[in-house]
Amino acid sequence: MVYIWGTKYVYSKMGYVADFCPICRRPRAFSLRRTGLAKHIYYVTISQGDLVCYERTCLKCKTILAADLNDYECIPKKNEPLPALVNMSNPHMMELLKDRLALEEVVRKAPTSLDDELRFALIRSPFYLLSPTVERRLSKLFFDLELWLAIGASILILKTVPGLADRYLPAESDRVYIGALIFCLLLVFWQLLTQGSRYVRKRIVPVLAKSLKPLRPKVSELNVIVRDMKERKHKLGRKIKVADIQRYL
Ligand SMILES: [Zn+2]
Repeated sequence: MVYIWGTKYVYSKMGYVADFCPICRRPRAFSLRRTGLAKHIYYVTISQGDLVCYERTCLKCKTILAADLNDYECIPKKNEPLPALVNMSNPHMMELLKDRLALEEVVRKAPTSLDDELRFALIRSPFYLLSPTVERRLSKLFFDLELWLAIGASILILKTVPGLADRYLPAESDRVYIGALIFCLLLVFWQLLTQGSRYVRKRIVPVLAKSLKPLRPKVSELNVIVRDMKERKHKLGRKIKVADIQRYL
């Protein structure tokens, strides 16, 4: 009998908290979860596993950030309107965030008055905050619409082409079938190869651009950040195109 066992990540929902979202640049509601690493047999686990980390996900922009349970007075099981959630989960938040909220007010109203170094750090920060989400997403195969369409089209082609070839090109039917097969393999392979860039363009760029927009970043500044990320081997740096960001700015 073959046993399949090992370890897998187990995500346990804990509830909701209020906190600052550096991507939305304002206080937001977050869902909170515990990530554990548990032993599994046939991918079935019976415990939450050893603690790896706590994570909070912004309910607005869906960015996942590290969480520290010590920051919260309690973790309500149900989401509440933000003022009520602040009172319940993080009542001192506005006081603790006083300086950051004042800075964000300047970002919104007078970004050009910011010191150059600080402004550049504020532009760079969302790239690195979104990078772990990209790394996690691209660490395993996933099926997006384009990949499903390529698989569906390949099945259709491989089901219909042999019959048509036998009928209209009987002498060449083997070559036609092999050609169709190669075409379908290349089609699916191409969609697999480009799915990371598609994910970044569709899911990450709109969120990133919204966060950057108040700071009015220059193309040259974005190029420097993307180049730096590439050199540091961040997948986001390799998959993102500055031109795509510009479309939203
Ligand atoms: Zn957010």
